[in-house]
Amino acid sequence: MRLTGDNLEHCDYLVIGGGSAGCIVAKRLAEKTVGRIVLLEAGKSDEGDPAATDLSRLDEQTPGYDWGFSASPLVGRGSRLNYARAKLLGGCANHNDCAFLRPPPSDFAEWERLGAAGWGDAAMAPHYDRVMRTITVEPAPQHPASRAFVEAAKELGLPEVDFQKGIRAGAGWFPLNARGRLRQSSSIAYLHPLARLPKHLEVWTETMVLRLILADGKAAGAETTRGAIHARRGVILAAGAIQTPQLMMVSGLGPAAHLREHGIAVVADLAQLGSHLRDHVAAPVVWATRESVGPWDICPFEATLLLQLDVEAPAPDILFHFGLRVREKYESGPRLAVSGPAVKASPNVARARSEGSVRLAGPDIRDKPVIDLNYFSDPYDLPLLVRAMRFTRRLGETRNFRHLCKAEVHPGRDVHTDDEWQGYIRSVCETVYHPCGTAAIGQVVTPDLKVMGIGNLFVADASLFPAMITVNINCAVMMAAEKAADLIASA
Ligand SMILES: Cc1cc2nc3c(=O)[nH]c(=O)nc-3n(C[C@H](O)[C@H](O)[C@H](O)COP(=O)(O)OP(=O)(O)OC[C@H]3O[C@@H](n4cnc5c(N)ncnc54)[C@H](O)[C@@H]3O)c2cc1C
Repeated sequence: MRLTGDNLEHCDYLVIGGGSAGCIVAKRLAEKTVGRIVLLEAGKSDEGDPAATDLSRLDEQTPGYDWGFSASPLVGRGSRLNYARAKLLGGCANHNDCAFLRPPPSDFAEWERLGAAGWGDAAMAPHYDRVMRTITVEPAPQHPASRAFVEAAKELGLPEVDFQKGIRAGAGWFPLNARGRLRQSSSIAYLHPLARLPKHLEVWTETMVLRLILADGKAAGAETTRGAIHARRGVILAAGAIQTPQLMMVSGLGPAAHLREHGIAVVADLAQLGSHLRDHVAAPVVWATRESVGPWDICPFEATLLLQLDVEAPAPDILFHFGLRVREKYESGPRLAVSGPAVKASPNVARARSEGSVRLAGPDIRDKPVIDLNYFSDPYDLPLLVRAMRFTRRLGETRNFRHLCKAEVHPGRDVHTDDEWQGYIRSVCETVYHPCGTAAIGQVVTPDLKVMGIGNLFVADASLFPAMITVNINCAVMMAAEKAADLIASA
């Protein structure tokens, strides 16, 4: 961290949030301009910290690496999901499982259809290439239990697929954005070593932005825990799909009535900000294994399976995570109690249509936001997930899987009817931590990522997604950040 003083500072571009998107935007802007660029990150530096940089040591991260948010999965139920959000340089890509999948072309075609002109697959391809020239992606190791899952899918007639070559229905191995055990987050791949960054790019860690400085209809900088900093050419929001809208709202941008409820003076009424929160909703089938499963080599999620249940769909509509362990994600449990070793297969609705929201609990950025996931509010999601769960049970009945597992523990064999499956799914549904869409192109920002109604302010993170994509979202976030840097530099 380089800090030149706690007094008023000036820079050309101020990037808020040093996560997947922010590190890329800051680095690419520094390559395109000689102006001073400052990247602000609330958390600590990841450099030299194996708990942050070594994928196999994720469990060593203490609560201080996370913002400690929780979310409500379903309207009207009191249950709360722990909603992990990283608080450190590198953001959630130093906190995640490194599954790295390029979205199929139809995802970007859908974005364009929704108004994101210039975001089609052909236009995004060079940005993917730039990401791939900067990071290393390797196939996940093949634990025998993960292999049994892939073989089970093949027994049911699905092909084994190399997902690095493209997304289609079949089973196979997650590509990981990792070189051996070293994560390939954008801080590690784009910024390290921090001491060798060009002088006009500064990374300030342990610096939390409290609110934006807005003057004369423009973003002019930010107030931070270390004082104010002014930006001459642009302020770029990259605090993630939960905190980018929260920061905008505490600064007077957002749904006017909601801001007034919290005594915040309205600078611009952005009615859609914080709405349209999308996530991948999953539900697990859990099996007790005959013997202990571990240890795994790098991470407990190696194998995946993409299913296309609707033949008319433009791409697979279900994405699986096969887990070599079972973890509770609810604050109150246990919901998935197992008495011995177990594995799980969790299908999620790939292009889930239900929309939740991010709202303020109070006018201070330090008040934890209210996150309503509103799962299954769109009638498309739940029936599709029921069909996926029935298929998942069939995986457990294959010869390959029966060698590995002795019994289905959750939901258990007394769940059969649609109603029973729906009841089970509602009680255990969980996140895959892919929030996006809360400041979407076409609703809050223009296709060139300018916040509507306010000058010099841009959004560059997962908030900008106009629709959910088929696969884990980090690859798309990194591609979007590469594009964002081009758009902002030429604005
Ligand atoms: C547990 C978990 C597992 C996941 N697994 C996968 C996976 O395997 N594959 C995949 O593709 N995706 C995965 N994801 C999702 C993926 O990592 C994220 O979607 C992606 O990193 C989001 O990038 P972002 O830049 O939008 O936000 P982030 O990476 O979250 O970055 C936001 C940054 O802003 C900082 N910040 C926030 N508020 C402030 C403030 N006020 N002041 C200063 N700084 C601030 C945060 O500390 C953070 O560093 C996972 C996520 C989690 C949490």
